[in-house]
Amino acid sequence: MSRVLVIGNGAAGLFSSWLLARKGQEVVLVGRGTPSTSMSTGCIRTRPEGCEREMAEFLVNEHMPWAVGARAGLSKIGTPFRCWMAPSHSTWKYGEAPGSVTVVSIEGHPAIHVRIASSLLIAQGIRAEHLSLPIAVPPEVPLTAAFRSEGSWELLAKALRTTSSDAVLLPAMVPLREYGRLDALERQCGRKVLEAVTPLGPPGLRLTELMHARAAGAGVTIWDGRRVTALDIKGDTVRGATVSGGSEVKEVATDAAVIATGGPLVDGLNIKGRELDDPFGVFQVARSTDALRGGYASREGMMVRVDGRRMANAVAAGDCVYSERRDHGSGLAGALDSARMAVMALEGA
Ligand SMILES: Cc1cc2nc3c(=O)[nH]c(=O)nc-3n(C[C@H](O)[C@H](O)[C@H](O)COP(=O)(O)OP(=O)(O)OC[C@H]3O[C@@H](n4cnc5c(N)ncnc54)[C@H](O)[C@@H]3O)c2cc1C
Repeated sequence: MSRVLVIGNGAAGLFSSWLLARKGQEVVLVGRGTPSTSMSTGCIRTRPEGCEREMAEFLVNEHMPWAVGARAGLSKIGTPFRCWMAPSHSTWKYGEAPGSVTVVSIEGHPAIHVRIASSLLIAQGIRAEHLSLPIAVPPEVPLTAAFRSEGSWELLAKALRTTSSDAVLLPAMVPLREYGRLDALERQCGRKVLEAVTPLGPPGLRLTELMHARAAGAGVTIWDGRRVTALDIKGDTVRGATVSGGSEVKEVATDAAVIATGGPLVDGLNIKGRELDDPFGVFQVARSTDALRGGYASREGMMVRVDGRRMANAVAAGDCVYSERRDHGSGLAGALDSARMAVMALEGA
């Protein structure tokens, strides 16, 4: 068994850790901050190219079933959204849109924009209605906190029974462990319950929590809230890293490293003027005219030092890797694919 240090707590770091741990490697994952994965809509926009089976297995969760294939849904402002894989209540099978939708708002809360959503639904040929729930929630209170009690869910079910549409569009308000409430609600109100596709909210947090649990369940040691501040490199080999968190600084030895630190948005790469730069000051970064597509260069799957030397035991995965094909806001499939490729490259090293 060899030790692998994975740096980064988003989709790429968690998936590569899970793959490695399942193959019997001793994996330590170090991550700090909120990954882009937690900011996403929690829906995988495009079909992954090389890891569909593993991805489906990785994302299995007792609380939240997934729907796979060509899917369509609605954002919290009613714009159409298409993806490949989504939590079961976020989307419908493409081409099977409901004929009518009731947009559900909560008094005083910005979680869903009723007027825009209704007018955009009509533009898509969907009959729109509006229901304002008689529950007041201050704008700064997350709906996941406001909808904890049985009473609030009963009130919601009662209100939804008065609607006549094929489907109801709710703001995103269920955490991972409560996802089953949407199934119960659907049974209680007798119509399709849809959760608005929402970035920067509960869906992305659910996705990260789920991935985190899967990696931990496979035996990965996860050091959250800590940052790798330096790498110990000798020639073409990463031998260890300095890990900082709170008042503690420790040196960790490793046999291999997966760098999955994300793009410039999460400081996985530094922006210097119009250039991207490696925060570790070691690896080559390939440029793109688009900062969100630039990232670590690789040669035959391994990272490359600034002096051109190909690393023997370091790979990169996810948004920190150069990819001219990455679309903004659609990187989850690419992050998972590149994590799988990174693990394969390490295995072949
Ligand atoms: C608002 C928004 C919405 C999006 N919506 C979608 C969507 O609907 N569908 C989709 O497919 N994609 C979406 N994306 C893109 C997708 O979220 C990203 O492409 C994907 O999550 C990248 O995963 P990653 O693991 O490479 O990086 P991240 O998820 O960003 O994880 C990298 C982590 O590493 C940490 N880190 C960095 N340096 C260090 C260090 N030295 N030590 C320790 N930790 C470190 C970072 O802080 C970060 O937490 C969205 C992105 C955003 C911003």
